Amino acid sequence: MADCLFCRIIRKEIPATVVHETELTLAFRDIHPRAPVHVLVIPKEHIDSLIQLKPAHAGLIADMHQTIQAVARQEKVEATGFRVVVNTGSDSGQEVKHLHYHVLAGRKLVWPPG
Ligand code: 5GP
Ligand code: ZN
Repeated sequence: MADCLFCRIIRKEIPATVVHETELTLAFRDIHPRAPVHVLVIPKEHIDSLIQLKPAHAGLIADMHQTIQAVARQEKVEATGFRVVVNTGSDSGQEVKHLHYHVLAGRKLVWPPG
């Protein structure tokens, strides 16, 4: 996906503040943070959204979850808690069509979200 924003971040054509990286996954700070900690965890493979995930992505999904744990530890919110949000499709407000997990933390998070 040549013109995909997050693919361009992976290729380092657009700068981002990377907080963790594995062979399969990149984690970087959201440009418009909604909480003191707001990190996006994305696969390096272009996948439009969660609905496109297949059993063959099991290793990738595990890697993304391990990255979420690593981010939580690194940001020191492992004990205080955090929320993972995966907007999927138009009703959710998904703007960037490259699968991403929002990791939000650092304050009390309102539940339920709007
Ligand atoms: P969505 O609404 O698709 O679930 O979330 C997309 C997220 O990407 C938003 O929270 C938005 O602030 C973030 N975002 C959009 N453009 C950029 C960018 O160029 N750099 C970074 N770091 N985040 C971005
Ligand atoms: Zn992409």
